[in-house]
Parts: sequence; C-alpha cells; structure tokens
Amino acid sequence: MPSGRHVKVAKFEILKPAGGMKWKEFADLLRRVRYRVFRLANLCVSEKYLQFHQWRTGQIDALPKLTVGKLNKRLRDFLIEESETSESLDRFSKSGALTSYIVDALSRYKIGALTSQSKWREVIRGKTALPTFRGDMAIPIRCDKKAARRLERMPNGDVELDLMVCVRPYPRLVLKTGKISGSMLATLNCLLDNPEQSLEGYRQRCFEVRQDRNDTKQWWLHVTYDFPAVETELNKEIVVGVDVGWSCPLYVALNNGEARLGWRHFEPLARRVKLLQTQTLARRRSMQRGGKNDLAGGTARSGHGRRRRLQSTEILAGRINHAYDTLNHQFAKSVVEFAQNHGAGIIQMENLEGLKKTLQGTFLGQRWRYFQLQNFIKQKADEAGIECRKVDPRYTSRRCSKCGYIHEVFDRQFRDTHRESGKTTQFKCPKCEYEADPDYNAAKNLATLDIVERIKRQCREQGIAMRDDEAAAEVL
Ligand SMILES: [Zn+2]
Repeated sequence: MPSGRHVKVAKFEILKPAGGMKWKEFADLLRRVRYRVFRLANLCVSEKYLQFHQWRTGQIDALPKLTVGKLNKRLRDFLIEESETSESLDRFSKSGALTSYIVDALSRYKIGALTSQSKWREVIRGKTALPTFRGDMAIPIRCDKKAARRLERMPNGDVELDLMVCVRPYPRLVLKTGKISGSMLATLNCLLDNPEQSLEGYRQRCFEVRQDRNDTKQWWLHVTYDFPAVETELNKEIVVGVDVGWSCPLYVALNNGEARLGWRHFEPLARRVKLLQTQTLARRRSMQRGGKNDLAGGTARSGHGRRRRLQSTEILAGRINHAYDTLNHQFAKSVVEFAQNHGAGIIQMENLEGLKKTLQGTFLGQRWRYFQLQNFIKQKADEAGIECRKVDPRYTSRRCSKCGYIHEVFDRQFRDTHRESGKTTQFKCPKCEYEADPDYNAAKNLATLDIVERIKRQCREQGIAMRDDEAAAEVL
C-alpha cells in the first residue's frame, strides 16, 4: 500500500464576488492583477535570458545566481520603475505584495527555467522554447499559512475565499455550490472539514483563478489540495472485471449486480481517436507519395522537401500517441471511478503477457498501449487503495458467466461466422441458454472471484484440456 499524500486539483465555478462588490469591479481587478503577473514574469524571463547570453559571450564574468529573494527584489524594482512613469501605485502593487504572487507563479510553473543553466543552454540551442507566460494565464493566489486565508463556510452556507492579490481589504469570492456533482461536493466538504489543516485530512495548498476560455464572463477557482493516501475500507468481496477487446477497447462489469461500463460509455472518446487515426493514415500516405514523386523529379530541393514532409508525419504520429495517452488515462479513470462508486476492493484484468507485439486491427492497435492502459488502471487503483489482480484470461470469453459452463467453440472466428449483418454475435450458453453481449459476458467472468480455479474445475468436468497457446487467442 503506498503511503504519503496525493495531490489533486479541484475546479469550482465562482458564483460572485462577496461583500457587495460588483462583478465588473471584481473582474477588472482580476484582469489587472493577471496583466501585471503576466507582464512582469515575462520581463523577468527576458532579463534572465539576456544575462545568460552576456555570460555566454563573455560580456559578464559570472552568471548572477537567481534566488526567490532576488527575484522578488528585482520585481519590486520593476514596479518602482513603472511607478515613476505612472501616476501612482494602485492598491495592487502598493505594498509590493504583488511581487510575491509573481514569484509564486514562477515557482509554480517555470522557476526551473529561470534558475537552471542547462535549461538556458537548451533554449540557446533551440531545443526548448523560451518560457513565456500568456495573457490569459491563471492568476496565482497566495495561500498564506499564518493568515490562513482559505475556503470557509459562512453561516448562511456560502463557501467563500479571500484572494490575497493586493493590499487589504482583500477581494472575496463566493463559490457556486448549488449544482456541483456528488464527488465534487464530497471533496469540498473534506476541504472545509479541516480548518486546522491537519495531516489527517484534506489540506488546501494553493489557489488559482482562471477565466473561462469559452465564456469570458465565467471565472473558476482551482484549488490544489493534498490528502493522505490511507487504506480505505473497500469490500474485497466486490470485484470489478476489465475486459480488453477487439472493436471495443474496454468492457467493465461487476460481480454483484448488473452495472457495467460498456461501449456506449466509451464510444465518443474512442470515435475521436479513430477519426484522428484515419485522418493521419490518409495524410501520411499522400505525403509519402508526394515524397517519392519529388525524388523522381530530381530537383535540387526535392530531398529536403520530402524530409520536411516526413517530419510532419512524425508530428502527426506524435499527436496520435498523445490522443491515445489521453484516452487511456480517461479509460483508467472511468474504471477506477466505477470501482469506487460500487465500493469494489478488487479490479481483475487479463494477464496479457502472451500477446503478440502488435495487435493490428484491434482498437488500441499495439501491445504497449494495452500495457499502458493496464498500468494506468493499476496506478489509479493504487491511489484509491483498490487491489489490482491479473488473471489468466483463458476461457474467460467462452465461459457462461451465469452457470459456469464453457462454450467450447465460442471464439473470435465463431463470432465472425455467426454474425448477423451489422450485429455482434451474442454469447449464448448451450447449457442454460443465458444470452449476453460477449464482451459483457467476458468482463463478468473476469469480475468473478477465483475465476482461474473455477475455470480449471469446469474444464476438468467437461473434459477440456487447457492449452497454453490459447491465452492470446482468448483475449481477442
Ligand atoms: Zn450457462
């Protein structure tokens, strides 16, 4: 069981500013703070870049070491310079407090780029882009330990937070708590139930305010929090089975009850990946054709052009991999949430060791993607305190999940030849006539405790000799 703490971010919509402040005034203030942070942070980066350049070209002897304190001071100087040109410092920069928010921002995101020489070498070589802050960046909110400015529940039930972005009085916000989901509400309650910020509970670590990308009138509060990774009371009698397959990447079932996560749940996600894959394949083919033609033409620049085009296919391939990563993360998240929602203590998956290197034509296409998916599930299950087991997949798609009888001939080939147009062949038990979606039936078997033992026993009973080479065939 992993110990320590897990860190997560919760996102809450901001309902309104508190204390009678008008939305316009509140949003103006946030935008002004954001503008300062974004501009000064970029100024710091370019100044640092200049220093590095001077040091590299021998114009200065030593590279000044940048510490948080020095960075803070430098930012103050920027602000003072600015105040000489503008009328007066407003309440957002008067105390110099703003500089610490910028330092916060830098340390949260890109301080490494400012303090590490090797990072700058990469920038000079063109391997890394100069770190930049964008105008729509999240506004870092200080979470002062002493002042304990944190989320608090008001007597009227509102949840409020002071935003330490200027001199007092701090602007204050009210969160929208009316329509948030059950799990978000649970998180929020855990955050509010630990006013002492004790290690036993959920601790609020830092905040960010971000404007909605699509609806600029909407603002969000991101709360980074941590919580102890303790073993939770999960029922080891409740098992979730995860079946990976051919056309449907995942099917998830439960040993007690009919609940399932099937194709319908994953389809929108999967369709997006499929589309990307099709587009990329078409694009790659046309580009490779173009490349050949260019070479045949024999112009001086054709080779270069071809290389350039092939490079962009690599970019596309990278995008596909990225999309699959995201998809796998979301699959894994759904599986573990499904397990949590049903109080399951165990997740059982197929042991895929016997699989061929590539799984051409399967949904994920490649073996490592299946391994990646299983690893993601395992990671997230570990975090949730759920045990992961890998089981021998043999006969898990041929066993009747109702009576345990093994339908000997029900394999992929059988399914393909008995297919009615456009429909998947249902699993139909020859003994008890139980009928089900074959993926659901397999997932249901995988969700059975002692499934390997049960199948062995059943095989003996039916006089079936288990062969080792059947493992891979079974999965698909
Ligand atoms: Zn049956």
